[in-house]
Amino acid sequence: MSTNEKMNEEFKTWMCLICGWVYDEAAGLPDEGIAPGTRWADVPMNWTCPECGARKEDFEMVSI
Ligand SMILES: [Zn+2]
Repeated sequence: MSTNEKMNEEFKTWMCLICGWVYDEAAGLPDEGIAPGTRWADVPMNWTCPECGARKEDFEMVSI
């Protein structure tokens, strides 16, 4: 068993519950200084939804 398994986890997608805007970990958010491949857990706590200003706790993981 590889110890790298956690690193190779698939990227997830998160959706804003308020406006439906989607954050894709694989794509990141370069316009906001968030590099592609940035995990949701690594997005700064003070980051807010670019559409409606919701905070991280207003997002929910969605599978696509
Ligand atoms: Zn939003």
